[in-house]
Amino acid sequence: LGMDLPQVIDDKLVSSGIPYRPADGHKGVFGYSWIIAGSSKYIGAAVFCSNAAFQTGCGIVELTTTSAIHIAIASQSPDILLTSYDEALEIPNKANVIAFGPGLGREKPTLHQAILQKITALNHPLIIDADGLYYATNMQEQLKKRSAPTILTPHPGEMAMLLKRSIDEVENNRFGVAKELAKRYDAFVLYKGHRTIITAPNGQQWLCPIGDDALGRGGTGDVLTGLLTSLLAQGSQPMAAMQVAVYIHAAAASEVGKRTGNYKMTAWQLIDALAIKLGQYI
Ligand code: AMP
Ligand code: MG
Repeated sequence: LGMDLPQVIDDKLVSSGIPYRPADGHKGVFGYSWIIAGSSKYIGAAVFCSNAAFQTGCGIVELTTTSAIHIAIASQSPDILLTSYDEALEIPNKANVIAFGPGLGREKPTLHQAILQKITALNHPLIIDADGLYYATNMQEQLKKRSAPTILTPHPGEMAMLLKRSIDEVENNRFGVAKELAKRYDAFVLYKGHRTIITAPNGQQWLCPIGDDALGRGGTGDVLTGLLTSLLAQGSQPMAAMQVAVYIHAAAASEVGKRTGNYKMTAWQLIDALAIKLGQYI
């Protein structure tokens, strides 16, 4: 019976889940994140996701996005390697983890579906978020067959879309639908919201007991995906990476909220606070 009950993420679990950072480590040791995100409308999603990954310890972050926004991103985020969506289909890279979806939009279905097809076949941990989840609905069988871990990170609207139900229906049964989605895709599921739920493919669940309205604004989900990607790149196992990511993300937001009040928090302030929070838990 105990196995079915959700457990609650706490300080101790987070401390033990943060990847060890050896003093003699070089960029090759700290992982290579490949983030596929962004569009002319959603530039911020790509910027925040990739910077959250880079500024939380990942060695190299490559962002694949529309070339129309490359110069804008390069001038603002010179730490990030840039490639175009077309290149993503042709050129291999050295990533050890892939995130797909923040700010993609739905304007380039053929291109984005083809990219998802390609990365699904690679043997890397794969995070699918935001509009990536929309494309994932056509790939259920292929995703289910993966041997490397897949992590789906829906908010309630995306959960409703994935399960073809109303938002009320999924929100009234958060634990149940998270398990159902995990089973359907044989994936890890990070079901966002006030009290985020993490579910393993075997149905084991964890609840994040912190986080508040400071996070209720555009960009925070993209930051979470970047942090999660970074932890996986640095060698964390999926369950530990999800636990640390949701907790550090929420704790960092509270910290910013304490300083500024919850009416004001930018994605940049949140990203700055992530690394400080991680440091407090080592
Ligand atoms: P997204 O909807 O993809 O931008 O993601 C929003 C992020 O903020 C997720 O991590 C949510 O769990 C979090 N979030 C939003 N509102 C709240 C809230 N009131 N309490 C806790 N977390 C929240
Ligand atoms: Mg989102």
